[in-house]
Amino acid sequence: MTVRIGIVGGGQLARMMIGPAVEIGIEPRVLAEEPAMSAALAAVAVGDYRDLDTVLAFTRDVDVLTFDHEHVPQAVLRALVEAGVAVHPGPDALQYAQDKLVMRAGLDELGLPQPDWAAVTDAAGLQAFLDDHGGRAVVKTPRGGYDGKGVRVVSAGTEAADWFAALAEDANGGSLLVEELVDFTRELAQQVARRPSGQIAVYPVVETVQRGGVCAEVIAPAPRSAGRVADEAERIGVTVAEGLGVTGMLAVELFETADERVLVNELAMRPHNSGHWTQDGAVTSQFEQHLRAVADLPLGSTEPTAAWSAMINVLGGPAGAAMTDRLAQAMAEHPRAKIHTYGKAPRPGRKVGHVNVAGADLDDVVYEARAAAAAFD
Ligand code: ADP
Repeated sequence: MTVRIGIVGGGQLARMMIGPAVEIGIEPRVLAEEPAMSAALAAVAVGDYRDLDTVLAFTRDVDVLTFDHEHVPQAVLRALVEAGVAVHPGPDALQYAQDKLVMRAGLDELGLPQPDWAAVTDAAGLQAFLDDHGGRAVVKTPRGGYDGKGVRVVSAGTEAADWFAALAEDANGGSLLVEELVDFTRELAQQVARRPSGQIAVYPVVETVQRGGVCAEVIAPAPRSAGRVADEAERIGVTVAEGLGVTGMLAVELFETADERVLVNELAMRPHNSGHWTQDGAVTSQFEQHLRAVADLPLGSTEPTAAWSAMINVLGGPAGAAMTDRLAQAMAEHPRAKIHTYGKAPRPGRKVGHVNVAGADLDDVVYEARAAAAAFD
């Protein structure tokens, strides 16, 4: 019997699940926010994922429900579970990816290493945290942030006044998250897949480079990570997946410090930008793995198929040229590069695609991937 997997959200993550779904005989069905989105090819419905009736109607013809993003409200998720829908990841797990304060409390309960943090409700509370942490800290809005939006480095309690004011108007009330400013040497990401029945598959830890709060490059596996760092990243990933009951793909964003500590930055419970390299550099891509996991099918091997992989994101530029305009030339000049396009309008700074290169030599792989991505600049 063909398994029908419903995906809420029509972005590039949903789009990149379509090919693998077709390959393994799963029928992908997307609920898109708007027509003509990235995953339009598999969109069977267009509507508001915050509206229970819309999502319920969509789930009538699917066997399992999963997500392109983490924004479906808890009330909707819980009503779906109540109605008997198989939701993966489920609301109990997803809450930790939806709210950074809930996440910090949950990670403390699991005893995992993370930056010092506090919930603050006003400038005085923020100032008190600053006084205890060397005068600088990172303030975050607990919900709805992405690509560095909702993250701010501050050195005075008054510097988050606008966010406190916005919270005061929020009917739910609430607090801001403040964290110590971690002096990290690099950022890492650990991906783990977990089935509802408990099977787990662990990918190699990768190095991620962000520019302007946006993921720019990923190197897999993370150079100089073999041994303690890789073991600790894996331990953290598995502990989060099991401890929070995650189903599907989990990404744990990590900071590595000069004294080789690994601290959790944040969680994503879906395929993640740090795992795009697996499409062309691992036996099982994160997109196929996510589908297998949420459908409770046996997981595939996470083994790399080359010594090194590099992933470079392509961002929209001011010229507004579509990736497809440059595609033929980039393909001609970089036949080793695997080019992925998201079919999105190229607004400046917006992720519109990425390039993967895999091979035996790290410098060569990074150079080739950067060159191929630059063909779209
Ligand atoms: P988003 O949800 O927008 O991705 P993150 O919480 O991942 O936000 O933060 C975005 C980036 O800001 C991180 O990748 C990291 O570079 C930086 N950052 C976040 N928290 C801290 C921290 N506590 N100390 C230092 N840098 C941080």
